[in-house]
Amino acid sequence: MVVRLVVIPVELILILASPVFFIFIAYEWYQSERRQKAIYQWRDSLANLALAAMHQAGDAVSLLILLPFFYWLSHFALFELPFNALNLLLLFVLQDFLYYWFHRASHSIRWLWASHVVHHSSRLMNFSTAFRQSLTYPLSGMWLFWTPLVLLGFDVKLVLAVVAINLAFQFFVHTRWGKHWGFLGLVLNTPSWHRVHHACNSVYIDKNFAGVLVVWDRLFGTFEPEHEDIPCEYGITDDFESVNPLTITFYEWRRIWADFCQSAGLKTKLQALFGAPKPKLAEGPPELELPLYSSQQQSSQQHKSGATHD
Ligand SMILES: [Zn+2]
Ligand SMILES: [Zn+2]
Repeated sequence: MVVRLVVIPVELILILASPVFFIFIAYEWYQSERRQKAIYQWRDSLANLALAAMHQAGDAVSLLILLPFFYWLSHFALFELPFNALNLLLLFVLQDFLYYWFHRASHSIRWLWASHVVHHSSRLMNFSTAFRQSLTYPLSGMWLFWTPLVLLGFDVKLVLAVVAINLAFQFFVHTRWGKHWGFLGLVLNTPSWHRVHHACNSVYIDKNFAGVLVVWDRLFGTFEPEHEDIPCEYGITDDFESVNPLTITFYEWRRIWADFCQSAGLKTKLQALFGAPKPKLAEGPPELELPLYSSQQQSSQQHKSGATHD
């Protein structure tokens, strides 16, 4: 009963917000068609939609196990933090801080990258790219990053609600529209900062891990602005290309499994699982048959000399 009461509101946050998301997607799609800019491809968008549904379903199922675990963990909380404005603000900031480290770890540890690569594997950048999430985040252990919040004494339901609200905010930075929102870009993640994060140009790789607050990138040296003369090339440096949600979901997991089986000795096996993400192509991807924009065509040379992963 407890599980039902909790799962529904937390899951509803993103589902209730989805009409707003669809309005933004429809408007961006309409504008891109009107201006003949190939920002959308229906196969890519459908794959993103299917991946979002799979992600939501995976999260709902995993919550059946994770919620009792979080409630058990809350018995060991250091403090009893009451619900008030100050604690809510503190929770938002701390969760965003942990999100930054979760995201940064997702780009450095293969076990986490296996899930996160899904989000980066499209060559397109539009609002529907935000829907491109992985079913396997619970397996990668995204939830581990929220355990300090429960141990500090924040309410479990509130922690999960803040996680969902953080994700909902991030929808709005997945677009080729807009820049860095003036002075707000000093503090907040913006479309321009996040375009950099999705780009595989060598100068942009592993930059701008922010969820809501870009201050973490500025503090920890991972901030990179978008350069006018270096157009973003979206996607990963591998020659991966698929619109099949299952192929996309299990792309890196299959590579990990192959490496794990081929490795001899415990150390190399552990490296296959938890080492740095392994670029498939050291020199970056070959010229792909992709829905390229003019800006991407201009920078195809950079793409060829690209770096390790997204
Ligand atoms: Zn990322
Ligand atoms: Zn993104």
